[in-house]
Amino acid sequence: MSNFNQESVLSVHHWTDTLFSFTTTRDPSFRFRNGEFTMIGLRVGEKPLLRAYSVASANYEDRLEFFSIKVPDGPLTSRLQHLKEGDEIIVGRKATGTLVIDNLRNGRNLYLIGTGTGLAPFLSVIKDPETYDRFEKVVLLHGCRHVRELAYGEMITDKLPNDDLIGELVRNQLIYYPTVTRDPFRNRGRITDLITSNKLFDDISLPVLDAEKDRVMMCGSPALLVDMKKLLLDHDFVEGNHGEPADFVVEKAFAGR
Ligand SMILES: Cc1cc2nc3c(=O)[nH]c(=O)nc-3n(C[C@H](O)[C@H](O)[C@H](O)COP(=O)(O)OP(=O)(O)OC[C@H]3O[C@@H](n4cnc5c(N)ncnc54)[C@H](O)[C@@H]3O)c2cc1C
Repeated sequence: MSNFNQESVLSVHHWTDTLFSFTTTRDPSFRFRNGEFTMIGLRVGEKPLLRAYSVASANYEDRLEFFSIKVPDGPLTSRLQHLKEGDEIIVGRKATGTLVIDNLRNGRNLYLIGTGTGLAPFLSVIKDPETYDRFEKVVLLHGCRHVRELAYGEMITDKLPNDDLIGELVRNQLIYYPTVTRDPFRNRGRITDLITSNKLFDDISLPVLDAEKDRVMMCGSPALLVDMKKLLLDHDFVEGNHGEPADFVVEKAFAGR
């Protein structure tokens, strides 16, 4: 049996000239945990051209969603950005990844830290009722350079709070904190600076990070992950993994050149 399913594109949304999202059909046999990634791609000639993608839809939804960069000369995304409704796409049958709440010890507040398309895995984590069962508050931080890159903001602030399944949980427990570095905006600055200066905690009225109580998931650029990981290790947080739940987990949003 092939390791891949063939799915049809159901919708495409372009956020900016460098970011877009699309939804596809979902083979009922494809199972994943919220926060995981799979391999997706296109057939180019005889060969499949595949890349790792976080699943941005929740595991109980009947369609799959992906949030993608457009790399101008990128082997996959230079083609993928031209997807339209009805096109075929290849989706792996297996999903994996460290950004699952099972890899974290129980705690008080959960911080989900994503930059750029590193938001994608958390879009499924914030739709999971179990996330709200396990943690008191769920703080979603999305860092970008420009305001226009803060994709999904309206979905998070307007649509999710009214969702039949998780609306009440979202209204009571989710705190969304978008921040940008290069435009005027209500929240400005790098996520690590907002944490070390305590501005984040003042703004959201929560106690400062505490390894005894708080848990963190992060997905972003190599620079964010290095700085954020150092910050957490300096504060006695322990990194978790499969089979060894701990205080924080890390995933690259993309592999560097
Ligand atoms: C675990 C994991 C999960 C991933 N999930 C996603 C996802 O949900 N959405 C997504 O768009 N990409 C994701 N990626 C990156 C993705 O696998 C591809 O790299 C991306 O689609 C570009 O493919 P490409 O063939 O066009 O260019 P590639 O040759 O793969 O990449 C070219 C260069 O573009 C830059 N780049 C690649 N991806 C990104 C990105 N997402 N943001 C900023 N710069 C980037 C890097 O410098 C990279 O070296 C993920 C990568 C990993 C390792």
